[in-house]
Amino acid sequence: MNRHERRRSGVKKVDWDKALREIHEDGIGVLELEIVTPVTALMTKDLQTLAAINMWLVQVLPTGRPLCLLCDHEWSPGAQQPSAFLVIKPADAADARNYIVSAICEGCSEKPDLFDLCITKTKDIWPNSRTIDALHPAPERSQ
Ligand SMILES: [Zn+2]
Repeated sequence: MNRHERRRSGVKKVDWDKALREIHEDGIGVLELEIVTPVTALMTKDLQTLAAINMWLVQVLPTGRPLCLLCDHEWSPGAQQPSAFLVIKPADAADARNYIVSAICEGCSEKPDLFDLCITKTKDIWPNSRTIDALHPAPERSQ
């Protein structure tokens, strides 16, 4: 849920701030971003991600008039479902208390630099965040 969606859904700022703090705590400062499309949703083994998207579809889409994460596209009640979602979750999210789910419209989901655009957008929430493209290998033992 992005800022516009939060406002429209009636989520209080104090609850939003608490959820952000919990996501940060659960991931010990490391978050994972995933773009989920209908195709990747079929292949995922992360049932919590699917549950979070389902919750968005049930709770936000019919009542919230959500906006696309990346443009001014607005879904009205009964409209076609988003083409993709950005899901932000704590790294190693086995016991995560919250996920952030943001809808992405068809036009934006086709952009070749979609993931980079999503990362840039998350800077609205965490301006000092940085990306880790790969985990550092464990140091080799010296003998
Ligand atoms: Zn869009």
